Amino acid sequence: MDMMYSKLDESQVDQLSTDIAKYCRLCLIHRGTVDILNEEMLAKLFKLNIELVSTYKLPKKICKFCESTINTFFEQHEKFDKNQWTLFKMMKTLEKTKESLKVSFLFTQIC
Ligand SMILES: [Zn+2]
Repeated sequence: MDMMYSKLDESQVDQLSTDIAKYCRLCLIHRGTVDILNEEMLAKLFKLNIELVSTYKLPKKICKFCESTINTFFEQHEKFDKNQWTLFKMMKTLEKTKESLKVSFLFTQIC
């Protein structure tokens, strides 16, 4: 690979850099059409622990397929988080209910 690059002249290097910048940043298969350097997408990538290595001359766009994948994973991630909190709150409520039953039982024993 290095050998191949060493035979390129400056204009070919520039052309290759321009071509590479057109690819999807994530899959490197399709053409990038969706901007990823916006607040919403950056927040999703951060939440999914997908690190953008550097912005230095790397593609700033992703393809529609990767955008859809990110949105699906993000929605699932949010759903998984929400479901765990729902379970946690349910268990806390059950524990409180159990405690109040014990207290009311003790109260009826005393009275
Ligand atoms: Zn892609």
